[in-house]
Formats: sequence, C-alpha cells, structure tokens
Amino acid sequence: MKRRDFITNMMLAGGTLALGGCVSPKDKEFVPKQAEDGSEYITEPAKRVSILAKTDVLVVGGGPAGVAAAVAASRTGAETYLLERYNHLGGLWTGGLVLPLLSTHGLSQSGERVQVIHGVSGEMVDRLRAMNMAIDEVNPTIDPEAGKYVLDEMVSEAGVHVLYHTWAAGAIMDKRTIKGVYVESKSGRQAILAKVVIDCTGDGDVFKWAGEQFDVIKYAIGMNYRVGNADKVNRKAPGYVYQNIGSDTPIPGVSWYNVWGEVEQDALDVENLSRLQQKFRKDTWEHIQEVKKMPGYQDIYLLDTASQIGVRLSRILDGEYMLTLEDSMTYRNFDDAIGVSGAWTNLTYKDQRITPSKRPYWQIPYRSLVPKTIDNLLVAGRCFCYEKALMEDARIIGTCLVTGQGAGTAAALAVKSNELPRNIDIQKLRQSLVNQHVWFGA
Ligand SMILES: Cc1cc2nc3c(=O)[nH]c(=O)nc-3n(C[C@H](O)[C@H](O)[C@H](O)COP(=O)(O)OP(=O)(O)OC[C@H]3O[C@@H](n4cnc5c(N)ncnc54)[C@H](O)[C@@H]3O)c2cc1C
Repeated sequence: MKRRDFITNMMLAGGTLALGGCVSPKDKEFVPKQAEDGSEYITEPAKRVSILAKTDVLVVGGGPAGVAAAVAASRTGAETYLLERYNHLGGLWTGGLVLPLLSTHGLSQSGERVQVIHGVSGEMVDRLRAMNMAIDEVNPTIDPEAGKYVLDEMVSEAGVHVLYHTWAAGAIMDKRTIKGVYVESKSGRQAILAKVVIDCTGDGDVFKWAGEQFDVIKYAIGMNYRVGNADKVNRKAPGYVYQNIGSDTPIPGVSWYNVWGEVEQDALDVENLSRLQQKFRKDTWEHIQEVKKMPGYQDIYLLDTASQIGVRLSRILDGEYMLTLEDSMTYRNFDDAIGVSGAWTNLTYKDQRITPSKRPYWQIPYRSLVPKTIDNLLVAGRCFCYEKALMEDARIIGTCLVTGQGAGTAAALAVKSNELPRNIDIQKLRQSLVNQHVWFGA
C-alpha cells in the first residue's frame, strides 16, 4: 500500500495520526526537557509503590561482603533480607570467576606468616575444603559452582530471606535517615523498609542514592573465563610452545584465566560496560580458537565466561575514617577494629620494594564502614572508606568478607539496642565478633 493510500484509509477509518510536528496534548508531556548541562531528561510521574517487606536489616548486594553481612546480622538475632540482582551469591568471587580468595595470610609482628581470615570467611573456606572444592592452603582457589552452593546453604541455615532477580533502584529517605530501598523485579517496582541498610553493591549504589559523599576510581575492567581439557594439552606434540591457559582449579582439567582487561574504565556508564562486554566476548572466543590451533592444544575449549563483568573499582565511600596505606604497614591498632586482612601485592613503601610475604596484616576500623552524614546506613565490601594507595588490598575478597561480617554484626546490634549504627557500644561489637571467631591480630 502506498503511503498516501495508507493515510487516506486511516482517516476514513476514523483514526488520528500524529505526523511531523503535529502531536496530541498527551504526547506533549513527553517532550524531553533540557538540563543545565545540556543533557535531555523527562519526568517520571509519581505512583504508589507497594511494600514488599519490613525488616530489621536489609543487605543490598549478595557478593562476598553481602553474604558475610547477612549471615552475621541474622546470626546476631536481626531479621535480615539479602537482595541480589543476579541468580547467585558470591558476586565477583563466583559469578565473576575470580576464584582465589586473597589474602588469607599476613605477616605477624613476630615475623610469622599467619592466617588472618577466620569467622564467617574461615567457615566458608572450611566448608569448601570439606567438599574438595578449594585448593591451596594460602589464598585458596575455589570452584565457583560449589561457592554458590555453600553461600546459599549458609544464608539459608542462618535464616536470611534472600531475594534473587531483584535490583535495588533507589534509596527511600527521610531527611538524612535511610528508611529502605526501592526495588525492581518481575514483580514490578516495590519498596523494602529496614531499620538498618547495608550497602554491599560493590559500586556504592545505595550511598550514592542516599546523597552521601564519595570518590570515584576508574580502574581496569576485565572478564574472566575458564578453559576445559586443560589437562589434555600434549606437551610432546611437535612444535609445542607453552601457551598460558590459566591456573588450576579444584576440578581436574579445568583452569581459570584472570583477564586484566582495559585500564581506566568507567564502571558506572552502562554504554561503556556494554561495549566492554561485547569486546571481551569476541576477544575471548577468538583467542581460544587461536590457541586451539597451536601444536598440542587442539583439545582445549572455552568452558564458560564470567556472568558478572569484572569491575575492580568504582565508587569509594568518604566515611568517618579513611583507612591508609600507612595504617596497613605499621600494625596500627584501632579501638573499633572489626577484624584484620592480609596483603597480596608488591608495593613501594618509604622507597622500599616490599613483597607480599613481608607485608603486615592490618586492622580495619568500624568507622571506615560508617558514612559521614546518612543515618542507619553501613557500607561493606570494595566500596568502604580507604585511601587510593590501599586499594589493591582493600578491594580483595578477604577484606570484603571481614568488612561484611563487621557491618552485619554492627547492624544487628544497632537494631537490638535501638541505637544509630554510629553510636553502638564498640566493646559489645568486638565481643560479638570474638564470639564469632573473628581475629583482631596478636
Ligand atoms: C577481574 C578481577 C579479578 C580479581 N581478582 C581477585 C583475586 O584473584 N582475588 C581476590 O581476592 N580478589 C580479586 N578481585 C577483587 C574481588 O573479586 C572483588 O573486589 C570482590 O569480589 C568485591 O566483593 P563485594 O562483595 O564488595 O562486591 P561484588 O563481588 O562486586 O558483589 C556485589 C554484588 O552486589 C550485586 N549488586 C550490585 N548492584 C546491585 C543492585 N543495584 N541491586 C542488587 N544487587 C546489586 C552484584 O550483582 C554482586 O553480586 C578481582 C576483581 C576482578 C574484577
């Protein structure tokens, strides 16, 4: 049908058409407006939002920090909800195929390399070891599916209400107090109200919505993958040349590969994340096909790629105390310590190159999880408050687990004592953590 005939038919049928510049009054509401910075926006109409749950503690994000926080809060007696946008717990540890738990050890003041990860994190590793799903004594590499299974088991046993497939989408605020979060899921837009909210999104989504101060770090983003038949490489094949297909995992013949990726990336820009996602997908597939052509490597195959893109850093809280590299190198003792972590990288400190085996363990103070202005909000995981020089050790899984357990316990104590999290009795917090086998250093 020609365009003119189509229009005539529509008019005869009594239809109305909005053609070039001719819009109905209803359409006019949706004409984008211009912001001061030149970008365009529209206004979303207000609507009623049903309340999905009211709880004591709400943990947003089910990565290492979120799981540790939820288990600790629930075990300390608080009704606890844990919400996660994807279909598994563990965040980058499992879904990101970031399999080695760094850093389980650190140097004590008497010069011994001691285990620093205990409490909930020690329990996770013990359970995985009992299933033969963690290898290596120091900084164990785990199997991601076993990790998802164990974390799910631990939150279930602790009585945590888990909501998968649920995105946190905004903070519900009453002046400077957070009252909960808006969520989006297949059930639509709903609200979860909580006495204390713990931001474990890794990206600090909740403290950003709540209006807290933060810094942004643009860092390397990668996408890890696993290779199958890694044990079928024929090193005796004529013309064999070593190819790096990753490190061992608990499953024989399966290796994992850590992709450093592209540097200085904006992890808060969805178009950039999408660009990187497509690039990694293409590069990984094509790289493995090339490796398969090398003598001795014909049987290997791409087993899987990470279901969570590898964001190392984005927002960092500007909290009540900024933990420093100096603190971590000098055995600084904090009255409000919630545990200790270890170090895994070489670094230059006071003009000296220090290897990980010479790096002290370091305490983490509770104040580094407490925002400066917003009440009833705590922050755990890679977005808690530390200076950039400490970022390599602050963002690792071991540190995230320790901050999670500290935040979860503190949140539950705040609810029990009807105090703001920033005002809780620190001695009670420390005692509760001791009871949970958390270690504070010698
Ligand atoms: C490529 C790469 C390699 C690394 N290698 C190592 C290593 O070898 N060893 C090591 O110890 N560490 C490593 N790290 C660092 C470590 O994996 C992470 O820093 C750590 O997992 C952070 O834990 P987290 O709980 O703070 O956040 P994440 O692990 O990022 O978990 C956050 C969770 O919150 C969910 N979430 C986020 N936003 C929302 C929202 N709005 N609503 C609902 N859910 C949400 C996410 O889906 C995710 O499950 C690596 C990181 C990367 C990217």
